[in-house]
Amino acid sequence: MNIFVVNAGSSSLKYQMIDMELEIVLASGIVERIGIEGTTLKHHANGEDKVIENASIADHNEAVEAVVETLLSSEYGVIESIEQIGAIGFRIAHGGERFSDASLIDDLTLQAIRENGELAPLHNPVSVVVIEACKRIMTDTPMVAVFDTAFHQTLPSKAFLYGLSYDAYTDLKIRRYGFHGTSHKYMVMQAAKMLGRDIGELKLITCHLGNGSSVSAVKNGVSIDTSMGFTPLEGFVMGTRCGDIDPAIVQYLMKKKDMDIEGVIDYLNTGCGVLGLSGKSSDFRDLWKHVELGDERSMIAIEVFCYRVKKYIGSYVAAMNGVDAIVFAGGIGENDFGVRGLITEELEFLGVDIDREQNNSRGVQKIISTPDSKVAVMVVLTDEELMIARDTLDICSRVGEVHRDAV
Ligand code: AMP
Repeated sequence: MNIFVVNAGSSSLKYQMIDMELEIVLASGIVERIGIEGTTLKHHANGEDKVIENASIADHNEAVEAVVETLLSSEYGVIESIEQIGAIGFRIAHGGERFSDASLIDDLTLQAIRENGELAPLHNPVSVVVIEACKRIMTDTPMVAVFDTAFHQTLPSKAFLYGLSYDAYTDLKIRRYGFHGTSHKYMVMQAAKMLGRDIGELKLITCHLGNGSSVSAVKNGVSIDTSMGFTPLEGFVMGTRCGDIDPAIVQYLMKKKDMDIEGVIDYLNTGCGVLGLSGKSSDFRDLWKHVELGDERSMIAIEVFCYRVKKYIGSYVAAMNGVDAIVFAGGIGENDFGVRGLITEELEFLGVDIDREQNNSRGVQKIISTPDSKVAVMVVLTDEELMIARDTLDICSRVGEVHRDAV
């Protein structure tokens, strides 16, 4: 059966068509710069790329129409009719406290996604538009929402509550939600498989290190803490985001830089992190190039990033009273062996022993600790789309809803 996976960003729409029999990607693509001049549709299928530059796509609604048309096209398509799509899985940024699992999209779920738009204003409203567009074109196809926050709904109150007054939580829903849930869940499943152990007996620290980064403490398969919070701004120093800071800095910046609150929040999201520290780039490949040329601030930025990750690892070992494996994923976690090396050095007290030769590789899923290491350290090539497709299939099978012609 084919599952169509849709991931809508504020000005983009990523998609994959996955044949779930063998878990093979039949087609993938992205529409970028939606609603901005120079909209592009890039589609990959049957070993070929199709790129439409300056596509006439005005909004997410038209983006869905263009993608479905491409999937059906005789030249580049991979399906002959929309009935060959068994179900659609949507990545949804925020499920609030309502969703601790993926959910079949009915009117109530759609309404809840709409209401959670307050917590994710750049993402949830756009997802609603995309879901409605798919519903118009694929009237009978079951649709499932897979939430970035759902995996972390198991956090105990001592981990999800901030030290604010309790009514900030009860009245305003201010709490730690956590994000990248689909990736953390995938890492947990893959790590257990690679270790040949049962998820239910493992203490794992999963590090999703990319442009946005987060770490989770996962005990017996359950997320018990995570670094991102009310929004994805909390936690590590990231590509352009500041991560954890003293909240009093906000007012100080407003006064000293004569900024309004929107200006400060924009700065904290887009002008900080390793970009702000280095003054060079948010991309770790660029940072290492600058380091090679002797740029000290790029090295400092990398060190701040790695130190922050290491501190979180230490705190999660304490939170779980131990750890069996530390798992790396994301663009940096999967590829940047320099960063993995810096994060895991001087962790001998924990029993971490890295095999430097094994660590020296990019984009390979494997264990990078020595066989004697008390704590396994591993690289997992995360696959959020596949996880969304699996969740979609799982929900559809549980409620007995799969497109009748696609089985
Ligand atoms: P993501 O947001 O997961 O796509 O990750 C983006 C980050 O991964 C950027 O900082 C990239 O520099 C880094 N990255 C991606 N590929 C590589 C690579 N081959 N080597 C080192 N870093 C990489």
